[in-house]
Parts: sequence; structure tokens; C-alpha cells
Amino acid sequence: KQQLHIVGGGMAGSEAAWQAARMGVPVVIHEMRPKVETFAHKTGNLAEMVCSNSFRSDDDEQNAVGLLHWEMRAAGGLIMASADAHRLPAGGALAVDRDPFAETVTERLTALPNVAVSHEEITDLPDEGHWIFATGPLTSPALGDAIRAETGTQALAFFDAIAPIVYADSIDMDQAWRQSRYDKGETEEERTAYLNCPMSRDQYDAFIDAILAADKTEFHDGETATYFDGCLPIEVMAERGRETLRHGPMKPVGLTNAHRPDDKPHAVVQLRRDNALGTLYNIVGFQTKMKYGAQTDVFRMISGLENARFARLGGIHRNTFLNAPTLLDDQMRLKSKPNIRFAGQVTGVEGYVESAAMGLLAGRLAAAEILGHALPPVPQDSAMGALVHHITGGAEARTFQPMNVNFGLFRPVDGLRGGRRGRKDRYKAYTDRAKAAWSAWLAQIELDAA
Ligand code: FAD
Repeated sequence: KQQLHIVGGGMAGSEAAWQAARMGVPVVIHEMRPKVETFAHKTGNLAEMVCSNSFRSDDDEQNAVGLLHWEMRAAGGLIMASADAHRLPAGGALAVDRDPFAETVTERLTALPNVAVSHEEITDLPDEGHWIFATGPLTSPALGDAIRAETGTQALAFFDAIAPIVYADSIDMDQAWRQSRYDKGETEEERTAYLNCPMSRDQYDAFIDAILAADKTEFHDGETATYFDGCLPIEVMAERGRETLRHGPMKPVGLTNAHRPDDKPHAVVQLRRDNALGTLYNIVGFQTKMKYGAQTDVFRMISGLENARFARLGGIHRNTFLNAPTLLDDQMRLKSKPNIRFAGQVTGVEGYVESAAMGLLAGRLAAAEILGHALPPVPQDSAMGALVHHITGGAEARTFQPMNVNFGLFRPVDGLRGGRRGRKDRYKAYTDRAKAAWSAWLAQIELDAA
């Protein structure tokens, strides 16, 4: 029987190996640790948690990451089973005792008769055989070079520069207005592609003060970035001079406040649509190393964002990731070399849970291909489907940055109340719909296999 090669035994690679092996496919995991180290990993274990020990919310009715937990458990996922076995008390979050967790993943995988682990670094993208590359945010430099040679330098990033992403329905449109700078664009849609939030001089001054005073996160050891000018954090711009932002991402030129045309704004914050659904907007040019708590306080000072809810906050990290929307097909295969799949954080998802989830899918998709029965498309209404759809096509390719799972990736449910009061019902409707879709998909596969 044909083998499946999995490069990287992290969150995604381990889950991919488990799923494929349980479907009867022989698997070789190629993991470079402990021979070749990264600056963040400390052990030679599979599925090492490199930083926090949290899988975040375990609420599968009101939280999208909790829903992803549910879906992975329903699919017999090893990462979730091992996390549940080593759960630490943490309120509504799923916190994990990291060393026994990683040891359990390692033991359960190596106990399978059709799984082998080979401790070696892989430095090229083979032309033959079935491969999943799940080498994570710290993909080794030699492999990074090989990927760039295949995809082009623009399509593989070594740092993320994440601007905060806001739920569209939490933006106050009595303050914000739709307009592209200088009304640029061929179509009406393009001419109204941006949302604009105005600032007076006093507001701008207070905003700069708040940015300068905010708590910031330092880079980890070994992670240090030389910023390139296109993606300076806003606090670095503010430190360079109080007017820098007003001449950069916050410049007010070419924009007219639709609510008060005579009131020329001193500065303008622009938001750009972040997904095809139009449910998410990113704050243009606002990548930042401010701490999360500080970010919400500072960004809610912006007119129109007083009640903003954030699908994700900003950040800048050492992070190797593909421009997945242009490079991968909906089966997570590299379009230019379809014998290769990518999975995990390198596909442009973010976090332990999301990475493991994308490993689960890639493992199943690859195994099904080897076994000669393709799987039906992953339902877009499931959390798995929403996430994989986002990275392989739903996201704007031009500005693609890594994404956490969140309800903004889901197709809206019709006929529900909007606003804060309707939110609980809406989230329950999303999670009910997702569970039904995911369960039906899993049942269909079992039926096909029987
Ligand atoms: P990883 O778990 O990193 O696994 C990739 C594996 O591939 C590694 O074992 C690596 O050794 C191996 N590898 C790399 N290149 C090669 C090669 N050429 N040949 C063979 N093997 C190779 N996420 C969170 O949810 N919470 C956090 O607190 C958090 N903190 C983070 C802190 C840092 C410093 C970093 C870098 C990341 C952090 N992340 C965090 C993101 C986290 O790394 C991912 O969420 C998750 O580990 C990604 O899973 P993965 O399987 O894609 O990659």
C-alpha cells in the first residue's frame, strides 16, 4: 500500500498522522527535532506546545474555537483526546498539562503499527509520493527556501503583520462611511470598498497619547525582526513622530465624511473588507505589538468603533506561512505540485487548535486519496469547513494574514435578530448548524467506507 509522508510532527502533523493511520494508510512522520532545533521548542516530543498551555474556550455553543474542539472530538481526534486526558482546571477554557499531553500524543502515535517516526530534516518538495508538509511557523530555513523556489518569493512570508479584524456588524455606520480614497475604482463596489472613521485634532492627540502609553509585547528571544517599512507597528510609527500616522495609514486626504461633508477630518482610520462574505473588516495598516487588553481600549477610541467586537487582535510574529488562497486547492493540495499538501499554521491559520484541525482534514483527505475514494467536500457550515474555505479561497489573497477560527467566517444565518441582544441566539444557531453539517459529513464517510 502507498505510504503517506508527513513532514513535521507538531500539532497538525501529529493529528494528520493519526487520522490517516486510523484509516489504514501507512505513515512516516519526518520530524527534525531533537536533531535540528527551533528557538521555541524545548523537547523532542511530538505535538509540543511552544508557549501558552491553553486550547482556549471549550464552549461549543457560544464560541467558534470551542466548536472546533467539538468537531475534532467527533472525528476521534488524537490532539483533543490527549488534551482532555491532561486537562487542568481553568474555568471555561481548556488548559492542558503540556508535558504529559505531548508524551501521550507521542506514545499513542508510535504505538500504532503503521506509524513510523524518522528524525530528520526534509529540505525539498519531492516530485513523487504523497506528502503533507506541516512544518509550522518555524519551518526550517532550508525548507523555506525550497518552498519559495516553488511558489515565488511573494507567496511565502516569514513574519505575519496582523492588523486587528473587526466584525462588520459591530461598526457604527452613523459615524463611519463607505468610500475609497479619491473614489478610486472601476465599479461601485470598489469605490465603496473601505469603511472610514473620522478623527478630530483632539481625538487624534488623545489617540497618539494612548498608543504611546499602551503596554507592548516584546519579541521572544531568537525571534527578533528587522521591520521592513511596509509593515511597521503603529506604535513604532507613533514613536517616530506625532504626525507620522497622520501622513501614513491615517491620512485624511481624498476622503469626505458622508455624514458631515463640511467637517474636514484631521485624520481618518480606514477599514478594508477582509472576506468575501463581507462580515469582517481589517483596520488598514494597524499591525501592532500592543498587548491585547490595550488594543481593545485604544481602538475603541476611534469614532465608529466604540462598540467594536474583534474577530482577532493585531500582532507581529515570526511566522512562516503561505499565501494559501492563491497556492492551495480546496483539497489543501499545492496547485503546482498536487502530490503535496500543506497543513497547520503554515497554511495561514493561527493557533494550536486551528493547526490541529487543519492537520485532521489534510490527513483524512490524503488518506482517502491514497485509498482511492475521494471525500465529499467539507461542509462550509462546519467550523472546519469555514476555516479551510477561508484559507483556500474565501480570504482576500492580496492582504492575506493568518486567521483564527471565528464566527465571522461563517455564512450568516437568516431570520435572526441582529445586534448585541441577538448574538447569543445567533451563535447557538451557528454552532447547531455546524454540528449537524459536520456530523452528516462524518456519517457519509463511514457509509461510503462500509
Ligand atoms: P508546530 O507545532 O510548530 O509543528 C511543526 C513541526 O515541524 C515542528 O515540530 C518542527 O520541528 C518541524 N519542522 C519544521 N521544519 C521541518 C523540516 N524541514 N523537516 C522536518 N521537520 C520540520 N499558538 C497558540 O495557540 N498559543 C500560543 O500561545 C502560541 N504561542 C506561540 C509562540 C511562538 C514563539 C510561536 C513560534 C508560535 C506560537 N503559537 C501559539 C503558534 C503555534 O506554534 C501553533 O499554533 C502550533 O504549534 C502550530 O502547529 P503546527 O503543527 O502547524 O506547527
